[in-house]
Amino acid sequence: MRLAVDVMCGGIVPYLRMCGHDTAYVGDEGIEDDGAIIAFATSEERTVLTRDVALANRADDAVLLERRETEDQLRELLEAGLSLDLEAEPTYCGACNGPLERIDPGEPTPEYAPGSEEFSVWRCRNCGQCFWKGSHWDRVGETLTRVHAST
Ligand SMILES: [Zn+2]
Repeated sequence: MRLAVDVMCGGIVPYLRMCGHDTAYVGDEGIEDDGAIIAFATSEERTVLTRDVALANRADDAVLLERRETEDQLRELLEAGLSLDLEAEPTYCGACNGPLERIDPGEPTPEYAPGSEEFSVWRCRNCGQCFWKGSHWDRVGETLTRVHAST
């Protein structure tokens, strides 16, 4: 799905990207007022995720989130019918939503990332950040398992 997430829901953004949803965060887009958010979401055909009742009512397509905690918001989205499963091959950068490309085995990786021989490593074509299925990936997976189990 194509999503536009409001500033009060920033915690869910990396989860949505790691689950393969094209997720714009309005905080990153530098837009704040409701009119600008709606114009942005409409022009990019994105569903607005927000805790703001007025904004949700004004948007063509929106999901109103009522809870404050990230995990509770993920549960609300699951109940609203959004798929929340980690992708086998990640598509979107968790940091900036840019497209990810797989680093070929043997190609050098940055110091903070493991070697591309031992791990599948992906690099964002937009911001350069590297991702791999390490402890952060596992923690996200555990959170999503918990969310699924309690829905
Ligand atoms: Zn990026």
